[in-house]
Amino acid sequence: MALRTADQFLAALRDGRTVYYKGERVADVTAHPDLGRAARHCAIDYSFADDPHHRTLAVTEDEHGVTVNRFYRVPRTAGDLLKRREMIAETTRAGRALIVLIREIGTDFLPAAHIVTKAMQEQLEAPYHERLNAFWTHVAHNDLAMGLAQTDVKGDRSLGPTDQEHPDYYVRVVDRQKDGIVVRGAKAHTTNPIFADELIVLPCRALDERDAAYAVSFAVPCNAPGLKFIASPFSGGGTSPFDHPVSSRHKIADTLTVFDDVFVPWDRVFLCGETRYAGALALGFVEYHRFTAISYKLPLLDLMIGCAMLAAEANGIEKAAHVREKLSRLIAYRETVRALTVAAAHECTTKAGLAVPNTTVTNIAKQYFAENYHAMVQKVQDIAGGLLVTAPSEADWKNPETKHYVEQYLGGKKGFGSINRLKLFNLIRDYFASDFGGYHELLAIHAEGSLEAQKITILRGFDGGAVKAFAADCANLDPRS
Ligand SMILES: Cc1cc2nc3c(=O)[nH]c(=O)nc-3n(C[C@H](O)[C@H](O)[C@H](O)COP(=O)(O)OP(=O)(O)OC[C@H]3O[C@@H](n4cnc5c(N)ncnc54)[C@H](O)[C@@H]3O)c2cc1C
Repeated sequence: MALRTADQFLAALRDGRTVYYKGERVADVTAHPDLGRAARHCAIDYSFADDPHHRTLAVTEDEHGVTVNRFYRVPRTAGDLLKRREMIAETTRAGRALIVLIREIGTDFLPAAHIVTKAMQEQLEAPYHERLNAFWTHVAHNDLAMGLAQTDVKGDRSLGPTDQEHPDYYVRVVDRQKDGIVVRGAKAHTTNPIFADELIVLPCRALDERDAAYAVSFAVPCNAPGLKFIASPFSGGGTSPFDHPVSSRHKIADTLTVFDDVFVPWDRVFLCGETRYAGALALGFVEYHRFTAISYKLPLLDLMIGCAMLAAEANGIEKAAHVREKLSRLIAYRETVRALTVAAAHECTTKAGLAVPNTTVTNIAKQYFAENYHAMVQKVQDIAGGLLVTAPSEADWKNPETKHYVEQYLGGKKGFGSINRLKLFNLIRDYFASDFGGYHELLAIHAEGSLEAQKITILRGFDGGAVKAFAADCANLDPRS
C-alpha cells in the first residue's frame, strides 16, 4: 500500500471523534482556527514521503518487504536507532524546532511492547505477542498516526491506584466480556491524540496484585465511542507571523483523555490483569521514549544558539567577553546532548532481537538537558535584552502614524536594520519569553518523565558493586570485619 499524503492524513481526522476545546465541541479539528494549525503541523510528518529532500530518509521497507514510513521499521541495530534519531530531528526541524509527535511516541511503545509481550506469551501462553505484532503491521501498512496515553491523572501521588479516594484516578478495566473489555478513567497530558488514528494506552507505573484492574494496555481508534478529548488552550499563539513567527503556524495540542466506558476488542488488548508485567511495560516504553526525547531536542538547541549569535551581532556585542562565554556554554550544552544521544544509540543493548538505546546514557542526556534548560534560556534572554518583551507590534509598524518611528529607532549594529532586528527578537520572544516559551520550559522538565524519574533510572542502572569493590580495594578494607 502507498504511504498516505498529508491531505489523506488530514481527511481521515474528520471521523466524528469527540473533541472539546475552550468549552465547545469541535466537529472538525482540521477546520478549527487553533487546532487546525496543530493538525497542519502534524501533517508535516506525512509530507516527508512526497518530498524529494526527505523521501530517502522517510521511506523504507519493513521486514515483509512492504514500503513503510521509517518510524515503523523494527529497530535491530545501532544504525536503525541513529536513522530514527535523524528522522525525529528532521521532522522537528521542519516544524521549526517544535516536535511533530504524531508517530514518535507510538513507535516508542511498539518495540517496548514487542519485548514484554514476547516474555508474556512464553510464560503465560496467551496471544499477547501475536496481537502486538498484528497491531504493528496494521499501523505500519496503513501508515497510521498514533497518540499514546500513559500518564494517569493519579490523584494523590503518594498512593497507588487501589488506595486512591477515587477508583478512576488510574484507567482500569470495569468489565470483561466475551469479545473484549470495557475501560474507564482518565489520562492527563496526552499529546496530539486528536490528530491521531489510533490511541495506545499503557500503565504509568509498577503495580501490585491488588491493582489487577489497573494493569491494562490496549489500542483503540481515536473515534471510539466513549473516548473523549478535552484539549488544553495553552499556547494558542497569536495569528501574526510577524509578531509570533513560529507559534502562529505551529502547535501541538495536549488533552485530558477520558475513557467513559470504552469498549476494546480482545485483539487490541496487550495486557489485562497481569500486574507483574505492568512495570516492565511502563519502563520499557520509557527506555525508548527518552531516546526520542533527546533526539528531538537538537533542532531546538540549534535554534537557541542561532538566536543568541544573531542577537549578539544585532546588538553589536558579539566580541564582548561575557557574551563569548555565554555562547560557548550554549554550544557545550548542545554538543553534550548531541554526543550523549549518539552514544546512547551506539552503546545500545539487545532484547528479544531488538536494539534498545543505552538506558543510563539516555537518561543522563535527558536529565542534563532538562536541568540546564532554563539556565540556557536565561543566556539568550540576557544577550537579546528587554526589547524581547517591550517591542512594538506588527500593527504599529503598519500604522502610517508610527511606522517611521518603528523603522527609525530600533536598529542595532550597522547593517542590522530595525525590522530585521524586530523580526529576530520576535522569534526569540516566541520561543524563549512567551506562553509558547513557557510551554517549552514545562515540556523540558516534565515531558518524558519528571527529573526525579531520570535520576532514579540512572542510579538503578549503574553497577555500584564494581565501583564499591574498587574503592574498598584502594582503601585496603578488610572484607572480614
Ligand atoms: C508538554 C507535555 C506533553 C506530554 N505528553 C504526554 C503524552 O503524550 N503521553 C503521556 O502519557 N504523558 C505525557 N506527558 C506527561 C509526562 O510524562 C508527565 O508530565 C510526567 O511524567 C510527570 O507527571 P505529572 O505531570 O503528573 O507530574 P507529577 O508526577 O505530579 O510530578 C510533580 C512533582 O511530584 C513529584 N512526585 C510525583 N510522585 C511522587 C512520589 N510518589 N513521591 C515523591 N515525589 C513525587 C515529581 O517528582 C515532581 O517533582 C506530557 C507532559 C508534558 C508537560
